[in-house]
Amino acid sequence: MAFENRRRHEHEYQELADIAKEIRRDIIRSLVVAGSGHSGGPLGLADIFAVLYFGGVMRYNPHDYQWSGRDRFVLSAGHLCPGLYATLANAGFFPKEELLTLRKLGSRLQGHPGLDMHLPGIETSTGSLGHGISIAVGMAMSDLLLDKTDRKVFALTGDGELQEGSVWEAAMSASHLRLSNFCWIIDNNDCQIDGRVKDVMSVYPIVDKCRAFGFDTIEIDGHSFADIYKGFDLFEHNHRKHTGKPTCIIAKTFMGKGVSFMHDNYEWHGKPPTKEQAEQALRELA
Ligand SMILES: [Mg+2]
Repeated sequence: MAFENRRRHEHEYQELADIAKEIRRDIIRSLVVAGSGHSGGPLGLADIFAVLYFGGVMRYNPHDYQWSGRDRFVLSAGHLCPGLYATLANAGFFPKEELLTLRKLGSRLQGHPGLDMHLPGIETSTGSLGHGISIAVGMAMSDLLLDKTDRKVFALTGDGELQEGSVWEAAMSASHLRLSNFCWIIDNNDCQIDGRVKDVMSVYPIVDKCRAFGFDTIEIDGHSFADIYKGFDLFEHNHRKHTGKPTCIIAKTFMGKGVSFMHDNYEWHGKPPTKEQAEQALRELA
């Protein structure tokens, strides 16, 4: 396909790798202070967050976060918010010190993102799985009706989240409404709270399902910057050319990526590191 690649030089990938590592460190730093929360999933998404927010994919203004020309990102898997919070802080939406208030009473950084907290960069409340993507499809639909399809809408769901029926209602709508301004990212780490997704309630073959629901679908390695760009370039193509096709990026990721003792282990879905574990994690991410 003939569209421009935005970042293709090794030194730019190195910059993104450094940012992703800082996001991972911030996830660990905030979770160990919080004493509760989700470690594994957020660590697995740091590379994708780095490209989305620092790699020229999303348009935003951290100093005017409600800027009408912005692209919108909805974290449908709201429990993965330590990763989004770390990304937003590094992007300048709010001070990095605030990351250390994660899950504290009165903090804007709750265990699931809440619109009522008025945290810059959060577009809607999420956490009840299957709802965020439905809201995001509504945003993309509204942009279509308002003739503002120059804006893009992204929604990220987990793979366990695909067990929620409302995900597929949203997908059906996105394709029926020809929302080429909509990009669905699936975090396919094959882990959910109780085990392997394929064992708890298989959602496979994901790629065939998404294609059957009308999405221009691509499978990528969610830890390869070149691959992540392939996904977003496909979306850029559909968006710019108004193909009428929503895009789905199935990102193969590892839960706990970057921290040896959390790697690909679903037991790290919903627990924070101890002080000693955090020190080891930060050494590995140095
Ligand atoms: Mg998962």
